[in-house]
Amino acid sequence: MTEGWRPGVKDPMRFLGGYPPHVLDQVRAALVAGTLGDHLARRYPERHTIQTDRALYEYTAEIKQEYLRSAPPLHKVGYDARLDTAQHALGLHTAISRVQGGKLKAKKEIRVASLFKDAPADFLRMIVVHELAHLKESDHDKAFYRLCEYMEPRYHQLEFDTRVYLAWRDAEKAAASTTAATASTTSNQSQL
Ligand SMILES: [Zn+2]
Repeated sequence: MTEGWRPGVKDPMRFLGGYPPHVLDQVRAALVAGTLGDHLARRYPERHTIQTDRALYEYTAEIKQEYLRSAPPLHKVGYDARLDTAQHALGLHTAISRVQGGKLKAKKEIRVASLFKDAPADFLRMIVVHELAHLKESDHDKAFYRLCEYMEPRYHQLEFDTRVYLAWRDAEKAAASTTAATASTTSNQSQL
């Protein structure tokens, strides 16, 4: 599917940059074979009901309470529809510093891409754990990933499978738009 990828359509494999070539080959083969959707659905059958910003805040606060009690308090947690895969941004953590009454106060905020509303429960957990880890570690270094694994021992597998899920979702969308384009071409021709 990567060969002959239509110009103007981004390669879904872009979500998997940094993984070893033999792993990428397997994912690519499964994309072409069309088996990835079933594979992911079997492996991650569990959905979640966290659909509102309030629910997401509570969900995030619960994980923080369990594993990161000493990290700075969270001021805001929410879904963000503007965060999408276009910028490779799945989540965002921000610390807004404001001077209040002569004191510098940092407000910590976590935003999660809205696409996770419909994703398997484990993938939402992965992104929340990732953003929570950023409360303590800003870089994607060893200390950061240790913290992620402390909160979620399956972290690395989940991050990989989330990326596979994004690649699959992207390829499905591209395929759907190709079908739509073909359909409209057909109807135009029939009008002639
Ligand atoms: Zn990060």
